[in-house]
Amino acid sequence: MSKQDSVIIGSGIGGLASGIRLAAKGYRVSIFEQASQTGGKVSEINQSGFRFDRGPSLLTMPGLIDELFALCGEDPRLHFNYKRLKMSCKYFWEDGSIINAWQNPEKFSEEIQLQSGLPPARLESFFKKSRKLYELTAESFLFSSLHKTANFRSKSFIKTMLNSWRLDPFVTMHERNKRWFSDRRIVQLFDRYATYNGSNPYKTPATLNIIPHLEHSLGTFFPDKGIFDIAASLTLLARRMGVNFHLNTKVNEIIHANGTVKGIRTEKEFIPAGIVINNTDVSLFYDELMPSEKMPRRLARGERSTSALIFYWGVNALEPRLELHNILFSDDYREEFRHLFSLGTICPDPTVYIYISSRAVKQDAPEGAENWYVMINAPENREQDWDRIIAEARKIIVSKINRILETDIEKRIVYEKIADPRSIEEETGSFRGSLYGMSSNSMFAAFNRHANFRRKYRNLYFTGGSVHPGGGIPLCLASAKIADKEIDPCI
Ligand SMILES: Cc1cc2nc3c(=O)[nH]c(=O)nc-3n(C[C@H](O)[C@H](O)[C@H](O)COP(=O)(O)OP(=O)(O)OC[C@H]3O[C@@H](n4cnc5c(N)ncnc54)[C@H](O)[C@@H]3O)c2cc1C
Repeated sequence: MSKQDSVIIGSGIGGLASGIRLAAKGYRVSIFEQASQTGGKVSEINQSGFRFDRGPSLLTMPGLIDELFALCGEDPRLHFNYKRLKMSCKYFWEDGSIINAWQNPEKFSEEIQLQSGLPPARLESFFKKSRKLYELTAESFLFSSLHKTANFRSKSFIKTMLNSWRLDPFVTMHERNKRWFSDRRIVQLFDRYATYNGSNPYKTPATLNIIPHLEHSLGTFFPDKGIFDIAASLTLLARRMGVNFHLNTKVNEIIHANGTVKGIRTEKEFIPAGIVINNTDVSLFYDELMPSEKMPRRLARGERSTSALIFYWGVNALEPRLELHNILFSDDYREEFRHLFSLGTICPDPTVYIYISSRAVKQDAPEGAENWYVMINAPENREQDWDRIIAEARKIIVSKINRILETDIEKRIVYEKIADPRSIEEETGSFRGSLYGMSSNSMFAAFNRHANFRRKYRNLYFTGGSVHPGGGIPLCLASAKIADKEIDPCI
């Protein structure tokens, strides 16, 4: 073994980005992945003529993907392409009202004014505030470690702290949005951004109002070949950089001695390594990979983000009222989150998200058909009676779609596959099936996430959605960037 040998456990977005970064630094990189393909939660289904993105559907901050190509001396446009969407989402309510969330700010303001009477200047001020939150927090909270004392002396961190009163940590997102907007639908539309990292708008601090800035001002994008192409393109880039992939290979243990990691053990062999990066859910690290280590209490007790119940439907007709991303809102949003976080079940009137990638990628469905990804938020897996919950939820979802879109969707479903918190947990190793690691349901959440390294063990690092700065594709890419800053170039 030499210091140049590095091992990554897991090929999720954080693992792929870490592999590319290490290879660009001159390390020999091996990625061990228990599944038969790379990408982790970013995966796809190809069945009966339909292609579905299985996990993520929304893309923001694609520059973080481009950055990886540039780091390897490649032009990203020759390998991975995407476009900015004209509309980020189409929102439907039970009372028949519809709001198109145009990416063009003037058009979006006009739409909101038409629907709710809100003066455009008010929405403009909201987005200004959202941008300010981003400017004050991005460098110190998203792109730097919160676990290094040296960073607390950095200019960006000092600026963040001096402006901490402007970060809105003491008021919830919902409370703040209620003060900005009087129309309950507009409040609900902006409250939904808490779900972008699986949190509860009635608990999460209003600091998370940076998310509308990411989506509306920095932009919502869509890869030309669908979301799975992010994982596919990064895998190809990693291969071109010489990264070795060991698929269908579960890592059982991280081996260490005298405070330094020495390698990993798979079911078959010991692989020596000078650097080990864990990209699995951090709870698996404590439960399985280094069971001698005790999980920090704040992690063990922390509230997880939501999971999901998804129906992948091949639909044999076109639905002209739907766009790429659509939301059919619940009538009682507070009740929906009470069911998810307090009762651990699904509410009788959940918000339904419908994502139709064939709107952007024609080949994703046969001519005259569409691929519907129909999702509702679900609580973490605590061994609820999922079969019963799924059967009930399916009926509720079908009747909500029929009611709002005035259709008979059941008759049009020609293919169906289901994902639920159990299958998400089993297939991606995500603790209790949560999509984004820890929730952001408290003002301390950012500080409670696991660090990207462990001081006790030299050369051990952590990337992915369950560690700092959190879940979602952009943040997983940021986690790899933060870990990378801690690793010296290989000489
Ligand atoms: C349904 C769903 C919808 C989502 N929607 C969005 C969205 O719209 N936008 C967005 O940005 N994000 C979204 N996310 C979140 C996003 O997908 C994740 O935050 C991100 O993909 C997680 O990447 P990761 O690096 O943490 O690795 P993961 O994807 O969690 O992958 C970890 C990998 O480790 C492997 N592994 C585990 N244990 C072992 C072991 N012992 N040995 C070897 N390999 C192991 C697993 O098989 C897996 O491949 C969604 C997620 C889901 C599931």
